[in-house]
Amino acid sequence: MNILLAGGAGYIGSHTAVSLLDAGHDVIIADNFANSSPVAVERVREVSGKPVTCYRADVCDKAAMERIFQENNIDCIVHFAALKGVGESVEIPVAYYRNNIDTTLTLLECMAKFGVRNMVFSSSATVYGDENPIPYAETMRRGSSSHPYGWTKIFMEQIFEDAAKADPNLSVVLLRYFNPIGAHPSGRMGEDPRGVPNNLMPYISQVAVGRREKLTVFGGDYPTPDGTCRRDYLHVMDLAEGHLEAVEYAAAHKGAEAFNLGTGTPYSVLEIIRAFETATGVSIPYAIGDRRAGDLPEFWADASKAERVLCWTAKRDLTEMCRDTWNWQSHNPKGYEE
Ligand code: NAD
Ligand code: UDP
Repeated sequence: MNILLAGGAGYIGSHTAVSLLDAGHDVIIADNFANSSPVAVERVREVSGKPVTCYRADVCDKAAMERIFQENNIDCIVHFAALKGVGESVEIPVAYYRNNIDTTLTLLECMAKFGVRNMVFSSSATVYGDENPIPYAETMRRGSSSHPYGWTKIFMEQIFEDAAKADPNLSVVLLRYFNPIGAHPSGRMGEDPRGVPNNLMPYISQVAVGRREKLTVFGGDYPTPDGTCRRDYLHVMDLAEGHLEAVEYAAAHKGAEAFNLGTGTPYSVLEIIRAFETATGVSIPYAIGDRRAGDLPEFWADASKAERVLCWTAKRDLTEMCRDTWNWQSHNPKGYEE
């Protein structure tokens, strides 16, 4: 298939590109590099050994996107293009709503105009909100969010469901990611956040490589086994491979349908620190600090639907997640910046 990856130069998009190319698909990337580097696309070509067409384009720019649809015979879209900073979304909510909703509407309009019927969407566990019991299952209702980023995902899922109801030819797979970490095993591709990392694993790996002094653990008094928050971390290559199954599923089905992509097993912040230290031999200085606003004590996936319907399960364990993160970070201490 010819698969357009909107936002495909980013962390998850670039790893997914490699999985799709390895499986024999052709990949077209459209990215404005708002939160990524063109070097990531070069690394996708290097690691896969395959050509990749790449457009520097804002997915909100309808004329630019129409040109891309015109020039390529697209069978399916994977839509990663979004701003994803929870804290930043509280500071600049309008920019988040504009970008995330607009990319989605532009893609849907292009799909209608060019007769493209299949879409895989990067959704998030955040759509379950804080009212649902854990583990989260797809049968539960979407919740409400404590931040604009989460609301954009909730709204976008709703938009896709409404669009699929109105157009019986449309097929949308809503992939609710849990917490992707890790990197491509080659050490040539990985997560390269701009500025101070918001997420746990990139912060740990930057401490390990000497870019940051110590990790602050956000809260040590949660009602969890060791007092720190628990999340469902999965290897980014497992997540990438989930997109392969989703693309096939989208091609064979109609309507909008959600799938959790997680392992079903939670780990605490302290367990992640210890696993990283054991896997790499590098010690991570840390201090327990205040809770971060909006963090839930714990959540993880009921991952059984993806296994049953998509025949997908996460195969890589926490040791591999830590080892591959370190392989990437230690060989690329400044990320994609040479
Ligand atoms: P990322 O920031 O690395 O990738 C997103 C990409 O989209 C970037 O390359 C960015 O430049 C691009 N982009 C943003 N707005 C654009 C626009 N208007 N036009 C063109 N390109 C644009 O983030 P990621 O971690 O790879 O996440 C990918 C998707 O998965 C996002 O939609 C994110 O919300 C979602 N998600 C991520 C996580 C996570 O923990 N990383 C968890 C759940 C969901
Ligand atoms: N976390 C932390 N210190 C950090 C970054 C994150 O203790 O510098 C914790 C955070 O409170 C949460 C977990 O690590 O409990 C995962 O956070 P992340 O931002 O990676 O993912 P999310 O909040 O989306 O689950």
